[in-house]
Amino acid sequence: NSFKALGLNNALLQAIEDLGFETPSEVQEKTIPILLQDESDLVALAQTGTGKTAAFGFPLIQKIESESRTTQGLILSPTRELCLQITNEIQLYSKYVKGLNIVAIYGGASIIEQARQIKRGAQIIVATPGRMKDMIGRGMIDISKIDYCILDEADEMLNMGFYEDIKDILSTTPKEKSTWLFSATMPKEVATIAKKFMHQPKEVTV
Ligand code: AMP
Repeated sequence: NSFKALGLNNALLQAIEDLGFETPSEVQEKTIPILLQDESDLVALAQTGTGKTAAFGFPLIQKIESESRTTQGLILSPTRELCLQITNEIQLYSKYVKGLNIVAIYGGASIIEQARQIKRGAQIIVATPGRMKDMIGRGMIDISKIDYCILDEADEMLNMGFYEDIKDILSTTPKEKSTWLFSATMPKEVATIAKKFMHQPKEVTV
């Protein structure tokens, strides 16, 4: 029952210790070994507050090649607040990983400034779907080489009417990637997304 036993590396273990996390939460215990070991897709049913951000954040950080500037991971989330919260958490978790840049992309803020941050090289982008689609359309963001795509709070994103945006965003990503979907509930719209955009996902419920 330790983070080390889940297979996390020293940079993450040190950050986890600094944060004072003592034991993995249930969703972390169930998802981290799967996400570290295989390149398979995953559907995880987990509520907010269960530690799900770390459940996808830790494996993502460990798998990213921080020496490369290419954008390798995309996290889509429903709101600006959540987007900033995830960005902040991933930054804390990756404090001992040199050269890792995480950029938050969301509406209601300067698109020019966000484009400037992207230009410096972001291995991980955390975005809301509307602004993300806009910036891809303007040629400001290229996610054609990502390896990991995370759909966080998928049920909320669909409730908010982001289906078309998500579909358009995913259409610019490579076929060969891993998709990790997190959702508190599994309405048929989420099942449809999983069916359409994922390949035989493993399933975890907490
Ligand atoms: P989340 O469900 O991702 O919104 O996480 C809820 C809160 O729990 C966040 O503030 C995390 O920093 C914290 N947290 C995540 N994992 C753990 C853990 N294993 N032990 C203690 N706190 C945690």
